[in-house]
Amino acid sequence: TYIVNEKCIKCKYTDCVEVCPVDCFYEGENMLVIHPDECIDCGVCEPECPPEAILPDTEPAAEKWLALNAEYADIWPNI
Ligand code: SF4
Repeated sequence: TYIVNEKCIKCKYTDCVEVCPVDCFYEGENMLVIHPDECIDCGVCEPECPPEAILPDTEPAAEKWLALNAEYADIWPNI
């Protein structure tokens, strides 16, 4: 799965949401997250993110964000 990290906070772009083929982005007050059970790992959102906040969970920097993306995707509304 791909995850969203803190670089998304207060970003106003939703280019990632537009390209996602399975609509697995969820939105809170300040940022978006990706539902890890719904993401099909296609990778098309990664280059579309202006602040480079999206990365695969295989990156070491993504580790702590995976649990938060999963947690918030269950609470926040789908966008
Ligand atoms: Fe959606 Fe593909 Fe990005 Fe996963 S990797 S969030 S399926 S666009």
